[in-house]
Amino acid sequence: MTDCLFCAIASGDIPAAIVSESDHVVVFRDVSPQAPVHVLAIPRKHVANVGELAVEDPALASELLSAATAAAKELGLDDGYRVVFNTGNEGGQSVDHVHAHVLGGRQLTWPPG
Ligand code: AMP
Repeated sequence: MTDCLFCAIASGDIPAAIVSESDHVVVFRDVSPQAPVHVLAIPRKHVANVGELAVEDPALASELLSAATAAAKELGLDDGYRVVFNTGNEGGQSVDHVHAHVLGGRQLTWPPG
């Protein structure tokens, strides 16, 4: 999709601090980290949100989750971490290309705001 920030990061047109990449998934550091470790895992394919991904391409949803949790392990989040898919307006999603936030490195609180 044109004019999609995360499509541009996935293609390399916009630089990002890449943590890992595969044929289908890219993991990179969030530009505005909310925890000592805060990365985003995205599919290269443009899909708007996690609900659409689960219906359209469950195999890719699984791959995305695997990449997100592998990144948590690689980044040393042995004491725990959080995986978040903000979805839609009330879910706080600001970029309409599905992304898993992986947050850790401090005690996270619940409920989120
Ligand atoms: P959300 O609000 O759930 O859609 O999350 C979007 C995330 O993308 C936010 O945490 C932003 O800080 C992050 N973000 C926006 N632009 C960039 C960028 N160029 N590189 C890395 N992360 C970004």
